[in-house]
Amino acid sequence: VIAIAYTNTLLKPINQMERQLKITMKENKKAEQIRKDFVANVTHELKTPLTSISGFVETLQDGAAENPEIRTKFLDIIAIEAARLKRLIEDILIISDIENKREVNTDSDINVRESIMEILASMEPIIDAKNIKITTSFAYEIYIGGNNDRFKQLMFNLIENAVKYSQPGGTITVTAERKEGRVYISVQDKGIGIPEEHLPRLFERFYRVDKSRSQKEGGTGLGLAIVKHIAALFEAEIKVESELGKGSTFTVIFK
Ligand code: ADP
Repeated sequence: VIAIAYTNTLLKPINQMERQLKITMKENKKAEQIRKDFVANVTHELKTPLTSISGFVETLQDGAAENPEIRTKFLDIIAIEAARLKRLIEDILIISDIENKREVNTDSDINVRESIMEILASMEPIIDAKNIKITTSFAYEIYIGGNNDRFKQLMFNLIENAVKYSQPGGTITVTAERKEGRVYISVQDKGIGIPEEHLPRLFERFYRVDKSRSQKEGGTGLGLAIVKHIAALFEAEIKVESELGKGSTFTVIFK
């Protein structure tokens, strides 16, 4: 009896270890699959603008360049596609930097109002181009700990989306407040809204509700994936509320 009891106590931790190992292997396999899917998606997303650029260049070389009107039109398309390629590469590098924990700056106390005002000032051209009205509401000086450049990137992506998916002349409200010891920062738009069934997948890389609309607005499909990555760095939560045709509110809740 003593021998059996002894083997049982020995087997228990071994069984637990085996189970843990199986779970870890399963997680590794899943991570590997996500990585493979990402590489496949990146390749596809990079190829699309490149194919378009080389197609238009070839047509120009074949004689289309002689017609000034066609030449200008094709060169404009090439410029747009090249800009898309540049944005894609920049976004991919940001994701890779965050994943490899390459920090752009050391951690600091971020003055939320100051940071957001700087971001809004830098976005003036795209805000004005769509005649968007921005309303801000900051209860009082709010500070959060972390990397200011990353924080600005997160806010930029949320505000840029609010602009992209608003009608011209729309209103966007940016709010920062402290509630129950946490900092709530939200970006609210009165734009096109998001159908409910898309909400769970919104933060996946390259996930778009309407691909052609996203591309027309110059989107890469990586903006919210970057937001999710940065929020994780800050150990912050993200909440989305949206109604089709009425608008969306993205809220990031910092500790
Ligand atoms: P994209 O570059 O396509 O904008 P994102 O990752 O930033 O990629 O967003 C993913 C998708 O979520 C977008 O394609 C768009 O369909 C939807 N989306 C994001 N923000 C908003 C918003 N404020 N209003 C409506 N739809 C949005």
